Amino acid sequence: TFPSGTTRPRLTFIGTGYLGATYAICFAELGYEVLGVDVDTDKIENLRSGVVPFHEPGLDEVLHRNLDSGRLGFTTDFAEAAAFGDVHFICVGTPQGPEGVADLRYVEAAVTSLVPHLDRKVMLVGKSTVPVGTTEWIRDLCRRFAPTDVAVEVAWSPEFLQEGHAVEDVLRPDRVVFGASSDWAIDALYAAHKGVFDLAMNEDREVPVVITDVATAELVKVASNAFLATKISFINAMATMCDAAGADVAQLARAMGYDERIGSKFLRAGVGFGGGCLPKDIRAFAARAEQLGVTDLRFLGEIDAINRRRRTRVVELAAALLGCDVSRPTQPDLSGRRIAVLGAAFKPNTDDVRDSPALAVASLLQGCGADLRVYDPAGLQNAQAAAPHLTYAKSLEDAARDADLVCVLTAWDEFRNVEPAALAGVVRQTRIIDAMNCLDPAEWIGVGWTYRGLGRYGSP
Ligand code: NAD
Repeated sequence: TFPSGTTRPRLTFIGTGYLGATYAICFAELGYEVLGVDVDTDKIENLRSGVVPFHEPGLDEVLHRNLDSGRLGFTTDFAEAAAFGDVHFICVGTPQGPEGVADLRYVEAAVTSLVPHLDRKVMLVGKSTVPVGTTEWIRDLCRRFAPTDVAVEVAWSPEFLQEGHAVEDVLRPDRVVFGASSDWAIDALYAAHKGVFDLAMNEDREVPVVITDVATAELVKVASNAFLATKISFINAMATMCDAAGADVAQLARAMGYDERIGSKFLRAGVGFGGGCLPKDIRAFAARAEQLGVTDLRFLGEIDAINRRRRTRVVELAAALLGCDVSRPTQPDLSGRRIAVLGAAFKPNTDDVRDSPALAVASLLQGCGADLRVYDPAGLQNAQAAAPHLTYAKSLEDAARDADLVCVLTAWDEFRNVEPAALAGVVRQTRIIDAMNCLDPAEWIGVGWTYRGLGRYGSP
């Protein structure tokens, strides 16, 4: 029984962005009483009135259902949150600070806003992605800011959800990790996730649980992201090799992926990784390693560099394909060339444009003088805010009209399913760069397009 008298803990999710809002809504769906907490009044107003402030398939419907159920509320008031919750999940942003180090100011603000209001024993659970050692630092903040007679347990449960697939990932995780230092904390973590385990049991599934110390739990997330980033940069380095050797990286990856030790996932060469997580997380991980005197993680700097070179690679390819002056390879003259950029989100099924390779390439192309039109099925509004210097189109056709070159930079289904023959009637020149290697070259070449992938036969 929790000090508030409940056996099923009441949960707060502090920070209602991509992570926290999805959690708040999905845990209400699992039957918990939930309060989402944020400092952004617009976001909270939107959520209260049933509007998910970002694009996430299926989430609107779950939000509406649970607002109606009365189990789900949202607030900007930390005193209300402290009075309500037994378990408080920290889901605020941890952006990149100077020198790549994670900026923990929002974590600090969340903790120091909440804990002075506490009047009973509670647990804080970190879900944000943080440097190893953060739990101990939060414990220290709690000792300094919580009332002296209130015990605050701090545990860590890293989060692995993927935007675009987040509802499913939260309701049906492939594993959960509990980092805790006491039996009470482990019991409270189980109670706060019982809905997830019950759902799995009803569906005859198992959710593996890893119970560990807090430092290991903190490391699981950054180590996983570092591994995924390494896998992507590895296959992208192979794409560069394929270009140099006249080989095909798609077939190479397919053949490699059949080896179960390697696996086919995250082995697609393309424009590289982006988003609000992988790039900043590997930089923060490398920076934390240096702080701890560990030099073995320096290879992550090269993983990052390979990834950033993918973006300039697309510009080189565009210049070569358009027959432009490439005497300055890093700054080819693309003036007067109209380019359709298909994609702005950092990946399909999200409107998230944080550190988006598509927008980065678009900015580089425009910087070389190209006349651009950028289109994205969901990310246009965020793209306009993040990159107001670019020109946007309301539809794929508008973007492609009279284009000398089409660049596919986000692998949305809308672009994968486009009819090459129909698009040929819209553009000025039938040239396409498939920077995600997500199209079937034969289909495009078959109806007369000049097709280039990254690391595929024929790439100059
Ligand atoms: P986000 O920027 O979408 O959301 C962060 C939210 O925190 C914002 O709504 C912001 O207003 C709020 N916030 C800031 N300061 C606050 C405070 N003092 N009190 C209350 N709320 C505050 O970020 P996100 O994508 O949801 O990521 C959050 C964390 O989760 C990051 O550490 C990220 O690395 C990690 N993570 C994200 C994902 C993902 O797919 N987005 C997946 C796993 C882990």
